[in-house]
Amino acid sequence: MKEAQHDLIVIGAGPGGYVAAIRAAQLGLDVACVEKASELGGTCLRIGCIPSKALLEDSELYHEAATSYGQRGIKFSKVEVDLPSMMARKESVVQSLTSGIQSLFKKNKITHYTGEARIQEAGQVAVNGAKQSLTLKAPNIIIATGSQPGSLPGIEPDGEVIGSSTEALSYQKVPKHLVVIGAGYIGLELGSVWKRLGAQVTVLEYLDRILPGMDSELSRQAHKTFSQQGLEIHVGTRVTSAKKTDEGCRVECEGMDPVTCDRLLLAVGRKPSTANLGLEDIGIELENGRIPVNEHFATQVDGIYAIGDVVAGPMLAHKAEEEGIACAEWIARGGGHVNYDVIPGVVYTRPEIASVGQTEDQLKERAIPYRKGVAPYKGNGRAQTLGSVEGSVKMLAHGETDRLLGVHIIGARAGDLIAEAATAMSFGASSEDLALTCHAHPTLPEVIREAALATQGRAIHC
Ligand code: FAD
Ligand code: AMP
Repeated sequence: MKEAQHDLIVIGAGPGGYVAAIRAAQLGLDVACVEKASELGGTCLRIGCIPSKALLEDSELYHEAATSYGQRGIKFSKVEVDLPSMMARKESVVQSLTSGIQSLFKKNKITHYTGEARIQEAGQVAVNGAKQSLTLKAPNIIIATGSQPGSLPGIEPDGEVIGSSTEALSYQKVPKHLVVIGAGYIGLELGSVWKRLGAQVTVLEYLDRILPGMDSELSRQAHKTFSQQGLEIHVGTRVTSAKKTDEGCRVECEGMDPVTCDRLLLAVGRKPSTANLGLEDIGIELENGRIPVNEHFATQVDGIYAIGDVVAGPMLAHKAEEEGIACAEWIARGGGHVNYDVIPGVVYTRPEIASVGQTEDQLKERAIPYRKGVAPYKGNGRAQTLGSVEGSVKMLAHGETDRLLGVHIIGARAGDLIAEAATAMSFGASSEDLALTCHAHPTLPEVIREAALATQGRAIHC
């Protein structure tokens, strides 16, 4: 069998893998990247972050045009959804970004192999592809195989009526009634897309709240807003089974009558992709389904590293990217670090919800003294001109040192605003630092400054 030698083999070309490959190549390593899918970019670019955000944007534009442009003096005789065109635009965005990674690989002289990788032993990977099968050798291997949709016992996805986010990103027509199991960010984002496009949407969540892990005050506000938008959300509802019927699907839950629907979206979390990698043969044992690594991303086997969704931590693209860079730097030059205290999280619903650092619930649990400042969007000039006055910024700073501990935003463009909070926290800023920073007027970031002033007990506009 054909063999090739490299300095580093990266398995998986998602945000973790492709970024690690590029950084390692920049640092002078001869890098190979093995990806089993025909396009590069992983879950995020092909069937995750990017296509979901394209649909969120377009469905929101449609919904706004259909419901509220009239109040702004913009009148249409008719607004309708052309789903095939909407899907085609989404595909073209995906295509543009995945082919961009291809160009970056060429620019950085990374050898791309298409096929399924299996680690045969430390330093050796077999690649099994439709066009080629070969053996790769390298002193270092990074596993960046990501994750896939989780399942529920008693529910058999058929990729048609019962499916995951992958199918829900490509429905050929708007469902009449979509049932979403799981009120995490994926379920709520995709539920919002299809609600805006005209579906009845029911969300069933096992826990007693939506968006587990987010600050509970924001989660309560979000629940109220999503319900006002027409999402029918049932918390404290465990789904026990779902069966296909002639009309579609019948979903059984504890404590509630069965629900019938024509589409069922399973959004019950994601599980790391570790099957068929040969891990058990080389002595890597999983912990809670994930590959255990030390602070330098090293597994139990010398020369084998792991990053991204396949290791512990939030399953987010930017977390995978940070780990990709740090791991490549560690391998190439013995240094590389990720600040896990400052990994923002964003839910791209309307309004957006964004968070960085500790929640108020965590500060209470950990008995950390804190001061809190809240500023509503309503008092902000830019929010008024945008017509998006719903929401607020909540800032949490240490009660003694004033160091920023967490910032939680619900409101327009929260996903963009959170970057200021993350930057400030990365530099170890205090709420006073933000309160003393001049912000352009009229802009939404002024709400962040107002929250900082409120944390100092000297808010001007609220
Ligand atoms: P992945 O992106 O999963 O990439 C792993 C790659 O490895 C895949 O391409 C896979 O084909 C390949 N692979 C697996 N096994 C093998 C093998 N044996 N041989 C060769 N190749 C292999 N995150 C955010 O930060 N923001 C968002 O807005 C966001 N939205 C999302 C929306 C949806 C609907 C979904 C499903 C996810 C979303 N995510 C989002 C999560 C994000 O996509 C993941 O956290 C991210 O893709 C993880 O990156 P990764 O590199 O670890 O793995
Ligand atoms: P996340 O892990 O953020 O993607 O969210 C997945 C959500 O699905 C979590 O809030 C889980 O509580 C929820 N979930 C998991 N199993 C069930 C179930 N059987 N019925 C309803 N919700 C569930």
